[in-house]
Amino acid sequence: MKLTDSYGRQINYLRISVTDRCNYRCFYCMPEHGVCACQHEDLLSYDELIVLAETAVQMGIEKIRITGGEPLVRKGIIEFLARLSAIDGLKHLALSTNGQLLDEMAADLRLAGVQRFNISLDSLRPGRFAQITRGGDLKKVLRGLDRIAEVGFPLPKLNIVAMRGINDDEFLDFVDLTLTRGYSIRFIEYMPTLKEPGWQKRWIAGSEILNKIAANYPLEHVDKGPYAGPANDFRITGAKGTIGFITALSNHFCEQCNRIRVTSTGTAKSCLFSEETIDLRPNLTDGNRLLLRRQLNELVQSKPRCHSVTTGESDHSSFLMSQVGG
Ligand code: SAM
Ligand code: SF4
Repeated sequence: MKLTDSYGRQINYLRISVTDRCNYRCFYCMPEHGVCACQHEDLLSYDELIVLAETAVQMGIEKIRITGGEPLVRKGIIEFLARLSAIDGLKHLALSTNGQLLDEMAADLRLAGVQRFNISLDSLRPGRFAQITRGGDLKKVLRGLDRIAEVGFPLPKLNIVAMRGINDDEFLDFVDLTLTRGYSIRFIEYMPTLKEPGWQKRWIAGSEILNKIAANYPLEHVDKGPYAGPANDFRITGAKGTIGFITALSNHFCEQCNRIRVTSTGTAKSCLFSEETIDLRPNLTDGNRLLLRRQLNELVQSKPRCHSVTTGESDHSSFLMSQVGG
């Protein structure tokens, strides 16, 4: 079964945030003192999340990404992932993480059936990494990267939020990792989710990064798989890893968007920047799969053709990426 929106886009990818809590406080994602985290009883239970996932898969979702906040800090996450990976018809189960807990959890995550990781890594310099994340330990993340390879996971994708004056002197170091370690990397354009004044000074267009890389290496365009969504991928000739760009502001790629999102409290969003949401919780709590299907269908049909956030003044409301899950 295929899930198609009103613009003919096939929607096959669901991102589920399982918590808004995090063991980091990345300055572009969360205020320093954290957020008033949801009470545990406000979070969808694992049983409710399974009803959501099963229903979505029956409707045509083929890939689920678990995100947060930091998904690995939620108690019982391994058992939940094992239940999720057993869902008939689910082809891909991926996890987004800051990597801080991977070293100790890698083996269990493998057994639970997780297939791939996206790992946030905005700097390769310990002091700077700790500053950006407000307390993250780079050494632990790097150990986690080694550990996931040891337990048999495929090479991960590293997500780098590109920020002028913060980590723009490291872009070529990240690019080297596609050659030396075979990691795939993805530069994410900074998104003004918190709408802090002067954010434009920090913002860098994906094209500027691409030009810098192309001035140093021969690049080839890479064909994307069916779940890739809105990224543009390249490879240095001969490298194992790819180099992608999520250019949410400079070049939307909304016409290729294949995803819907559900927050940890059951709010469904058809677009990251959309202000229209649907509350799935009542039907998840009741286990009313018929009404849930209707709601998910309504969500998909309400997907906007394109979002309107640009580097100029835009009128979207600020929101916490840690609540929506990126
Ligand atoms: N904690 C996990 C992590 O950091 O990978 C998963 C959740 S995090 C919200 C998902 C992704 O959103 C990360 O790659 C993070 O870098 C990205 N992100 C958060 N705030 C952002 C912002 N303002 N602009 C661009 N990307 C952002
Ligand atoms: Fe936590 Fe991820 Fe947000 Fe950083 S980007 S504060 S790791 S949720």
